[in-house]
Amino acid sequence: MYLCKAMQSNLQILPINKWLKDSKKPLIIAGPCSAESEEQILETAKAIDAIGKVNIFRAGVWKPRTRPNSFEGKGNIALQWLKEVKKQTSLLTTVEVANAEHVEACLKNDVDILWIGARTTVNPFYVQEIADALKGVDIPVMVKNPLHPDIHLWIGAFERLNKVGIQKLMAIHRGFFSYNKNIYRNIPQWEVPIELKRICPQLPIICDPSHISGKRDLLFDVAQTALNLDMDGLMIETHSNPDGALSDAEQQITPSALHELLDQLIIKSKDSANIEFKNFLNELRNQVDEVDDEILQLLAKRMVLIEKIGEYKRENDITILQLDRWKEILKTRTELGNKLQLPKDFICEILVAIHKESIRKQAEVINYASSTK
Ligand code: PEP
Ligand code: MN
Repeated sequence: MYLCKAMQSNLQILPINKWLKDSKKPLIIAGPCSAESEEQILETAKAIDAIGKVNIFRAGVWKPRTRPNSFEGKGNIALQWLKEVKKQTSLLTTVEVANAEHVEACLKNDVDILWIGARTTVNPFYVQEIADALKGVDIPVMVKNPLHPDIHLWIGAFERLNKVGIQKLMAIHRGFFSYNKNIYRNIPQWEVPIELKRICPQLPIICDPSHISGKRDLLFDVAQTALNLDMDGLMIETHSNPDGALSDAEQQITPSALHELLDQLIIKSKDSANIEFKNFLNELRNQVDEVDDEILQLLAKRMVLIEKIGEYKRENDITILQLDRWKEILKTRTELGNKLQLPKDFICEILVAIHKESIRKQAEVINYASSTK
């Protein structure tokens, strides 16, 4: 859908180590979903600071809630509490902004970093309003992915901010809304941040396992997967009393659970100096190259057959789509895939792509014949 488009982005990005001291990987952001009271904020921030691995304290001050009559944040007063966090801990602060008024309030109250939430990234009017309010201001801005996996909308937000001069930019991957039943609150669709990295290699990307998981027991796996995929950091919702939280209670963890989680994470390196490792990896990669070659040769062979089928159907005035045959292909191939221990969803995705191309090829055969009649 969004992969393999010849897309370029000329974002001007200042590397994190140019604007954040102690910016070693992974960058850790922690704090409650919402700022609820001064006590909650200070108790949580001090405990998070004591872990010694967290750089930035997050708290929602204005909360974008799906339904009205839910807790919508404490507003401006909470910015005072965050000022206190800066005084009493070594943590920087970050707050979600959704409009120009929020930006102004944060700037007035010395918030260090702003972030744009998923419900705001979807709307270019709001992103532009925020960008306009930031003209001439030197502050880092993090942008969460939009609710749905539209990578152009995500990149567009960075471009709008870049245009007004913001170069301290970072992406936050927080997963994507789906109606399909799923173990996640927001499905990760890791291919989307990977594609963002391909298009904008200079843009740091961190992961928000809290909003992906929606519950505590998935947090560790999602966080570890993010590090395995070379993400630059994590944002994890942490609350002094998660069960009593006024928003996102099920996914928040205590500072001590955060400490444990961070201690258990395995930090991977991008490369190794070990020659033996490099040689064996290369050997395996060469084998993979050969297999990929075979797969493509076989696909080309399949397409030659499809073209013949297309011609034969055309000569006999037979429809391209043969539903029973398609059902049979899906059934037999997923059964074979199952025997070969290949996940059903993966096989289905490949079959759908192959079938789509087969249909397109046969249509091309028919169109070509009718245009040369
Ligand atoms: C949040 O970080 O609390 C939040 C509202 O997140 P998102 O924009 O990812 O839903
Ligand atoms: Mn939240």
